[in-house]
Amino acid sequence: NALATGMRPYAACYGGHQFGHWAGQLGDGRAITLGEFVDRSGRIHEFQLKGAGPTPYSRGADGRAVLRSSLREFICSEAMHALGVPTTRALSLVSTGEQVVRDMFYDGHPAPEPGAIVCRVAPSFLRLGSYELPAARGDHDLLRRMVQYTISEHEPTIDAQSPETVSQWFDAVCRRTAALMVEWTRVGFVHGVMNTDNLSIHGLTIDYGPYGWLEPYDPNWTPNTTDAQMRRYCFGRQPGIAQWNLSRFGGALAPLVDNTEALEAGLETYAQVYEASARKMYADKLGLAALEGAEDEALLSDLFKLMQQAETDYCLFFRCLAEVPAEGAPDPLRALFEPAYYRADDLRGPVGDALLAWLARYQARIGNHPSEQRREAMNAVNPLYVPRNYLAQQAIEAAEQGDLSELERLCTVLSQPYSAQPGAARYAARRPDWARHRPGCAALSCSS
Ligand code: AMP
Ligand code: MG
Repeated sequence: NALATGMRPYAACYGGHQFGHWAGQLGDGRAITLGEFVDRSGRIHEFQLKGAGPTPYSRGADGRAVLRSSLREFICSEAMHALGVPTTRALSLVSTGEQVVRDMFYDGHPAPEPGAIVCRVAPSFLRLGSYELPAARGDHDLLRRMVQYTISEHEPTIDAQSPETVSQWFDAVCRRTAALMVEWTRVGFVHGVMNTDNLSIHGLTIDYGPYGWLEPYDPNWTPNTTDAQMRRYCFGRQPGIAQWNLSRFGGALAPLVDNTEALEAGLETYAQVYEASARKMYADKLGLAALEGAEDEALLSDLFKLMQQAETDYCLFFRCLAEVPAEGAPDPLRALFEPAYYRADDLRGPVGDALLAWLARYQARIGNHPSEQRREAMNAVNPLYVPRNYLAQQAIEAAEQGDLSELERLCTVLSQPYSAQPGAARYAARRPDWARHRPGCAALSCSS
């Protein structure tokens, strides 16, 4: 609670489109920025406490956060950084010693839980919804000043005086968001609540709530129980939702430009950048220099069909694929993929046969490419360790009992997600069967 020299704490409100509908002012009722720190290279780092108590925007809520959700933010944002995915960082986490009452399952059973505060760090915590709010209120003067401030603070390559300033900035946000969606797709991350207030203007992953990691490959999967019916924010829809969110954001910026064509062009750019970068990303995942022609397209789309025929772990499948030799007998090939299949029987039946048929095409495609080189390149883009919800949940349950050893071990393993670590096989395994339906291990509510 004491202020260090130069600290100027504040909370900032924002609005947003939640599940497709304008929700007005809704945040930030529990984040307090302490100030900004400019490092030696001139980069700005905003330090923000989440869960430190009420702000003017708390709307009657307590402004607090529970330990389990704070640990989930801490574990995953640091894991994302190690994976090379743009993200806000977690600098520290303290438990407050206070109890916070939450209805964890949204079923009318509120109970006290340990409280915690994460200090997170990013160039800023500005979101698309930060600009939608003044726009919705018709406060174009405030909107203009916010946009000018943002550009002069954070966009050294954009000329703040040019008439195209606003559309150039929109274009930059679109490009960064496209790049982020490609990265989420690469590693199998599902954000869970892609409302416009949860999309950063810096193209960072922000606000870790009921997120999850795609385990059995299924584009319709979402970890968020609140979205179980509509599946608006499921894995496969994320890139399209990001574009929809950007269109709301572009609409908010429209009063600042003379004609909106340049903003519409930004949305087109989003689609083009996403398409091109996703193709490159999939080629990398497959260990190919590029996807070339209809045959490669079919190879990729047939792979996704194959992965949906039986429960197949998204991350582990690509690690197995990296081990495939240029030629090999069917039985060892089947065995190679055992770590990725949730039911070993599937590999011995028609699914296994389909896998072998696909692998034959894949082997023909990779030809004589040295397998050592290919394996190395593939393993650098296909993670072995990701913060699967059940792993985080185990670490959280131990931490709630005062034992931090599992948390520390997990964070250490996740800090090097691409290289196999001795003694860490447990962290690279498929989600065990007991975790399939356990709360917190697969699906989660928004309670935090
Ligand atoms: P989220 O769904 O976590 O992105 O939260 C959306 C907004 O709800 C946040 O920006 C906060 O302003 C608000 N909020 C969530 N939990 C609390 C809380 N316990 N106290 C005050 N505001 C909250
Ligand atoms: Mg949020």
